[in-house]
Amino acid sequence: MSNFYPYGKQSIDEKDIEAVINTLKSDFLTTGPKVKEFEDRICDKTGSNYCVAVCNGTAALHIAAISLLNKGEKVLTTPNSFLATSNAIIYADAVPVFVDINEDGNIDLDECEKRIKKDRDIKAIFGVHFSGNPLNQDKLRILKEQYKIKILEDCAHSLGASFKTEENTVVKAGSCKYSDLSILSFHPVKHITCGEGGAITTNSKELYDKMMILRTHGMQKHDFKNENMAFDKFGNVNPWYYEMQNIGFNYRITDFQCALGISQLEKLDNFIERRREIAQYYGKAFENNEYIKPLYKFDKGSAYHLYVIKIDFERINKTRAEVIQELNQKGVGTQVHYIPINKQPYYKNAGYGKENTPVMDKYYSECLSIPMYPALTDNDLSFILKTINEVVNIK
Ligand SMILES: *Cc1c(COP(=O)(O)O)cnc(C)c1O
Repeated sequence: MSNFYPYGKQSIDEKDIEAVINTLKSDFLTTGPKVKEFEDRICDKTGSNYCVAVCNGTAALHIAAISLLNKGEKVLTTPNSFLATSNAIIYADAVPVFVDINEDGNIDLDECEKRIKKDRDIKAIFGVHFSGNPLNQDKLRILKEQYKIKILEDCAHSLGASFKTEENTVVKAGSCKYSDLSILSFHPVKHITCGEGGAITTNSKELYDKMMILRTHGMQKHDFKNENMAFDKFGNVNPWYYEMQNIGFNYRITDFQCALGISQLEKLDNFIERRREIAQYYGKAFENNEYIKPLYKFDKGSAYHLYVIKIDFERINKTRAEVIQELNQKGVGTQVHYIPINKQPYYKNAGYGKENTPVMDKYYSECLSIPMYPALTDNDLSFILKTINEVVNIK
């Protein structure tokens, strides 16, 4: 096989490599200056006030969830995500409630509003900007301001995306304009990578302070409770002293990962531009296709982490497994995003799986993510398209 195109892939250049090497030669491999620098750059890019960088997106979700949620609270969330989104709700001893999606793959916020009106135990929403397409910010605003719902936006797919509100203001993914917290992932398939990495953005100083402590074992060096141990007889803080008031974790990210992240972030705009070009190309190519439909029409606000098509498998008389295998043999990688989380055995054992989610169920039966990453050339794209058309067998 000459070439294989996975559904997603990182782009690493010499500058990235140099940035990592320089940090490896510096005094700090971890807990050094690159972490704060990376956090500041993420704030610049997203427009948020605070950022906590951590070792992966799941760790970001974990400390975000325990900072935001109280035990037993019900949290509306989507079945159309990676497992980590709803798992985080469970880490916080809160209760996920799965809500159906819209045609675009995002959680149905109108349905969320209906549920919130009926059930006072619902305190929060964990939504995902699925495939890079931000949640409707006009609707989030109502839920936040009118219903005082706590909101976490999972922006693992949407760094670099934006949403234009009815009043024509542009809300950037990760800015937390109408949410309490947003999380990012820097896994290699995402927009920028640290190898592994994640971050939480917020405009709340209180949540920021909590998460900074949770990132490092729950250790803090201020607001001491053991005053007799913290201070000497002159009232000065003992220099060695730290306190653990809540259980925390070691979710730190290294300086060389952050150096890679900083270098990658400089290329984000170009990466997103290319992703949008690719989306436009695919969109045109499938425009009049009877068997293949793009998940949504070209959207210039989407950051296009994924490019999802819906295939009418019954009409082409092939199963999805057959299509995936044939494409794979010809060098085109695909993936299914996502298996409904509420149907996973763990969740079924906990009483989930029977929710009324007709849109999700239909979506899941049709969806396929095809190659989408900035390094794809026009030649690559025409090969991928030709191959898809061969396999889906259009007469
Ligand atoms: C990738 C991803 C995560 C988790 O990120 P990791 O860095 O892999 O832990 C969470 N939510 C969504 C929607 C993701 O795509």
